[in-house]
Amino acid sequence: MKRIASISPRSDRERDGFSPPQPSAQSGGTRASRFVVQDHRARTHHYDFRLEKDGVLKSWAVPKGPPLAPGERHLALQVEDHPLSCGDFEGEIPAGHYGAGTVRIWDRGPCEVREWTGDRIVFVSHGARLRGCFGLIRMRQLGPRHWLFLSMRRHPAPVRASSATTL
Ligand code: MN
Repeated sequence: MKRIASISPRSDRERDGFSPPQPSAQSGGTRASRFVVQDHRARTHHYDFRLEKDGVLKSWAVPKGPPLAPGERHLALQVEDHPLSCGDFEGEIPAGHYGAGTVRIWDRGPCEVREWTGDRIVFVSHGARLRGCFGLIRMRQLGPRHWLFLSMRRHPAPVRASSATTL
């Protein structure tokens, strides 16, 4: 599984036009972190999933919300990193501002990051709603910002070989 990240050419990441996780982010080991999910009723209703790493919130817009049933997988579109303070925000974003609409915290809590490579993040979350093992798998063939957000029963599901080899 860890082979997936290493076969992804760095030049692809550069072409994608956004920063990959820091090179120091190796898989292996468990790291304490925090997550937040915000329900965001903006021009389109979506959920923002944010995971703390290296002093910022790595962020994804998840149109259908986090996958809750084991085996479920939902599209997640990576957006720019957000400052940690964004994770506390609830309220109205005024018209004319980016993300104008209503933000509510849907869930938040501690989590343990089990794996974090350029293409694969696995964590165990301890929220009120988001509990258990989850994964985010980058799907370059779908687009530069495209990830799948997976609910895992216990252990990370294997990345489909067909996805990995066509990258
Ligand atoms: Mn949003």
